[in-house]
Amino acid sequence: MISLGIEGTAWSLSVGVVDEDSVLLIENDPYIPKEGGIHPREAAQHHSERIGRLIKSVLSKIPPEKIDVVSFSQGPGMGPCLRIVATAARVLSLKLNKPLVGVNHCLAHLEVGRWRTGAKNPVTLYVSGGNSQVIARRGERYRVFGETLDIGIGNALDKLARHMGLKHPGGPKIEELAKKGKKYHELPYVVKGMDFSFSGMVTAAQKLYDNGVSMEDVAFSFQETAFAMLAEVAERAMAYLSRDELLLVGGVGANSRLAAMLDVMCDERGARFFAPSIELMGDNGAMIAYLGLLMFRHGYETRLEDSTAKPDFRIEEVEVNWD
Ligand code: AMP
Ligand code: MG
Repeated sequence: MISLGIEGTAWSLSVGVVDEDSVLLIENDPYIPKEGGIHPREAAQHHSERIGRLIKSVLSKIPPEKIDVVSFSQGPGMGPCLRIVATAARVLSLKLNKPLVGVNHCLAHLEVGRWRTGAKNPVTLYVSGGNSQVIARRGERYRVFGETLDIGIGNALDKLARHMGLKHPGGPKIEELAKKGKKYHELPYVVKGMDFSFSGMVTAAQKLYDNGVSMEDVAFSFQETAFAMLAEVAERAMAYLSRDELLLVGGVGANSRLAAMLDVMCDERGARFFAPSIELMGDNGAMIAYLGLLMFRHGYETRLEDSTAKPDFRIEEVEVNWD
């Protein structure tokens, strides 16, 4: 069986195709803001201008008659972007006369991670632009055991980078700067049970920079503090749930310092650490295609009248009837 998936919850516009065993194709046409952060309406405008061409290009490589399922990210995400994606998916499903499956974007990150790494029943640390959550399965649902009380870690990194005059996306630039950092400056470390918060840290780090601390040291201090918080909550969830696997997913998962810290933490607990390849870490169409395929095989199909965008779609809402 072959599934085509469309992702476009925020900056990333991506179409992926998977079969039962592997990722066949991913094509991306991301929205990159000229200045500042992501403007939902501009991102949606970008998606609407490009999505037709992107799908056409994918269908020139994978014959349309081979596609069995059309999957799309139904939420969570930016409303205007989600509506473009849902509309494109509906049109494609009608045109190909194939079933439509609307999927939860966070669950797609998690399931593609399990699929490609072989993690069985992990605690998942999902770290992206808008989201930061510690998730684990309990029975027929995934549950969020801890999450950010304000902004996602990716947004925090992007905001800090922007303040220092760097362009979006800031995460990779902060990572490079941090490698050259030498002096650690203390920043607010906010963990409450398994929840955490980043916005106070961003303000404090911006102040360090305004007071003359080098970009390298600010980036270094920020990463060390924020990633220590994430490692702490991930470890707490693993201890609480008695799990011996940790899975890292989401765009910020591309950060090698974060992965190294989590790897050490897992080693010290005798647990295994898993992370998918970079191309599957950030938002991509293949993860949407894969979850659509998995859900379709387990009886899910989205009727046209239920295919509207769900900007606040929570992972807990999905009943998980697969292993
Ligand atoms: P996502 O929303 O999952 O696609 O992730 C996008 C976020 O990942 C943005 O906030 C980026 O700044 C961030 N990001 C991407 N690469 C890195 C990296 N190497 N280190 C830290 N953050 C990153
Ligand atoms: Mg994401």
